[in-house]
Parts: sequence; structure tokens; C-alpha cells
Amino acid sequence: MIPAARIAEVADGLEAHLCHVFGAEVVTKEDSALHRTIADGFDVAHMGRDKAAELASLISFDVPALGLPTGAQYLSDFGTTIASTVALPRAWRAPDRAATRLVVLPHEAGHVDHHRRGVDAGWWPNAVGHSVLYLCSVATDDAAEYLGHVEGDQYGTSESVSRWLGAKPRPIADVVDSLRRHYALRPAGAVVAEATLRSHYATIDDGGVPNVRSARVALAWLEANAPDLRGAVLS
Ligand SMILES: [Zn+2]
Repeated sequence: MIPAARIAEVADGLEAHLCHVFGAEVVTKEDSALHRTIADGFDVAHMGRDKAAELASLISFDVPALGLPTGAQYLSDFGTTIASTVALPRAWRAPDRAATRLVVLPHEAGHVDHHRRGVDAGWWPNAVGHSVLYLCSVATDDAAEYLGHVEGDQYGTSESVSRWLGAKPRPIADVVDSLRRHYALRPAGAVVAEATLRSHYATIDDGGVPNVRSARVALAWLEANAPDLRGAVLS
């Protein structure tokens, strides 16, 4: 049994490493004026399903299969990345939520990587970012395919970290279903997400690490700095 304080120490170390490698910043969601405004939007959106789906698709956030959140749930239950800033709920700083940070941080750091690569390539301005693609994913197949691919990569990253920590496989169908619901993903995006995940799961099942930068950086750091956690945190 690994003490919670040790898992928290490892989560802090991994967070610092990911911020350094990917140029990310991590903030507390409840302290962010932007995220409090989005939370208010979710409360308003609850009045109408179409508006809610539109809002959910506007931003990148990674959620379990629960349906759309209320504003309070959005702030306290979900990590969200906009441009280079990863926002995490305050409660995830508690030692007993350190395992959640270990699984979610590599996923979100990968989105910062997507954002910065797009800025460097001139695909979108720094101020707007990768997040605008999430809005387009309800409207165009091109954007939905992009989103399906990057989320497939990032859920593959989370899966590889959680399996390293000892978790059983999460069914691919669960992930694809969640993506379709929360990002209002068009069918083309769901097809790409599923195919991407199948490829990453095959690599993981074979004892490898998915060919996704965030997965490789996170697992290399964990192997070097926290071998005591391997297979010993999740079940
Ligand atoms: Zn994501």
C-alpha cells in the first residue's frame, strides 16, 4: 500500500515536469474568472438541450459518462485546458485525489502540446487556440476528425498511465460514447477516435507505450522517478 503522501509527492513532481516540457501552466479552476464564467454558462444552458450541447463543444474538457454538468460540477469535477493553461479543481490538490491528477495531467498536457504545435505552424493564433476546433466539431467533419484523433491520443495517454498504475482496461466503447456525448462529436469524429484508441490499446496490451508525446514523456518520468508506484496505486 503506497501512502497518499507519496502519491501526492509524485503527482507534484510529474506536474512540474509536464509544465516544463510542454510549456504549460496549471491553475485552480475555482480561482479562474474565465472558468467561473463558463460555469455560469453551463447553468444557463441547462434550460435548453441544444444550447447545452453547443456550449459543451466549445471547450475541451474531459469527463466521465454523466451527461452535461451543472456549473458547480464543471468547476469541481473536471479538468479543462484552454490554450496553454490547464485548470484543475481545487479538491484534486488533496492527497487522496493525487491519483486523479496522475491520470488527468498527462492527458491535459498533451492538449497544450496540440495547441502550441498549431500556433507554431500558423494554424491558429495563440489567443484563440486549439479550443476553437471543439466548437467546429459540431459543424464540420474536418474538425470532428481532428478532435477525434487528438482525443483518441489523449485518452490513450490516460489509459497507458492508469494501466501503469495498476488499473484494469477501460472499455473503448465507454470512451467513444463519452466523447460523442460531451463534445457533440459528429460521426466521422467518433470513427477516428475509436480507430485511434484501438491502435493505442493494442500497443499497451503488447507492453508498449502509445506513440503520443504526452504518454512517452509521462511514462518515462514515472519509470525514472516513481518505480515504486508501478501497479500499486489503482486496481
Ligand atoms: Zn481531452
